[in-house]
Amino acid sequence: MSVEHAPVQRADFDQLMVPNYAPAAFIPVRGQGSRVWDQSGRELVDFAGGIAVNVLGHCHPALVGALTEQANRLWHVSNVFTNEPALRLAKKLVDATFAERVFFCNSGAEANEAAFKLARRVAHDRFGPEKHEIIAALNSFHGRTLFTVSVAGQPKYSDGFGPKIQGITHVPFNDLDALKAAISDKTCAVVLEPIQGEGGVLPAERAYLEGARALCDAHDALLIFDEVQTGMGRTGELFAHQHFGVTPDILSSAKSLGGGFPIGAMLTTTEVAKHLAVGTHGTTYGGNPLACAVGEAVMDVVNTPEVLQGVKDRGERMSARLRELGQRYGVFSDVRGLGLLIGCVLTDAWKGKAKDILNAAEKEAVMILQASPDVVRFAPSLVIDDADIDEGLARFERALAKLTA
Ligand SMILES: *Cc1c(COP(=O)(O)O)cnc(C)c1O
Repeated sequence: MSVEHAPVQRADFDQLMVPNYAPAAFIPVRGQGSRVWDQSGRELVDFAGGIAVNVLGHCHPALVGALTEQANRLWHVSNVFTNEPALRLAKKLVDATFAERVFFCNSGAEANEAAFKLARRVAHDRFGPEKHEIIAALNSFHGRTLFTVSVAGQPKYSDGFGPKIQGITHVPFNDLDALKAAISDKTCAVVLEPIQGEGGVLPAERAYLEGARALCDAHDALLIFDEVQTGMGRTGELFAHQHFGVTPDILSSAKSLGGGFPIGAMLTTTEVAKHLAVGTHGTTYGGNPLACAVGEAVMDVVNTPEVLQGVKDRGERMSARLRELGQRYGVFSDVRGLGLLIGCVLTDAWKGKAKDILNAAEKEAVMILQASPDVVRFAPSLVIDDADIDEGLARFERALAKLTA
């Protein structure tokens, strides 16, 4: 049964919405796999994946099935009660990772908020209030709450909202000496993205993450990996830190975890988790049955050797083509990332113009992303068909050809 809706259009956005976003000129109304259709019936290839969220594309039957099954059963009970989908998803996450305990929430920012609060609480309980400093990387991104923008330390996201959260130090990414100089016995946690996503799809070096682990251990600090963007198969491993062989004490996940349904999770060990005792933290929707039912289906599909290997294969196919295109049109100086999180670094001539490339791509009916003004980013479905990759890249090439003509 379909409901009659009053017609709406893009212009309504400017009349109705807080102006913190600048969405594209078209409104997507339907998606299937890696294709999206807008109000006018125009079809686009989706390489944006809802910003690394639509891990199985649009309307994947396993996710639609899990969501509708749960929708007919039980939507919400709050954390005054537990529920079966939350426990099943938690078990799957624990079985598949270093973690022994899970906290569910609704977004990446909330997962990081929980991680930072937990790290401070652990240090407070074990060593006292002096040990509260958090070290984060310059150019990192951890979400938009006041704590997470304060930690990420990109002034454009944190300035102008009054006093920031104190006790945070920023160091250049991949610079172990800088981290060594900054860490002290007052440090309660070091937080890193194994690949800086918003910062330009910049992978950590293995030695940097190994060094960070050793420094944290030497100073009784917790190592937090923000895998909100890199997790859930995006890089060809379930979580990106597995590529590097370095295990965190706390891990945050969101984005792909729900495949498009809002959910976040903080994963940790029993020893660390015990410091969030009853009443210390919470959220009404965390562990919502609908979200967890979808998350469970995402885990079931993604966490298989075939799908993870497929991410590596597809990633290589896309990166190789993008390198070719970058050279042919003189637009990319580097193509980096892991699996299906790909960043194309713009050459000097194109620096700052990622948005122009996005707009040109959209005109040719392919949706892509930027990661800073200097990097064009691709984060498609992990199960995108080769035919969709080829068609999307053919359209992208047309965009580059026109733009550089
Ligand atoms: C997107 C992102 C976040 C924030 O997630 P939200 O769901 O938008 O709150 C945090 N960290 C990283 C690395 C991200 O990419």
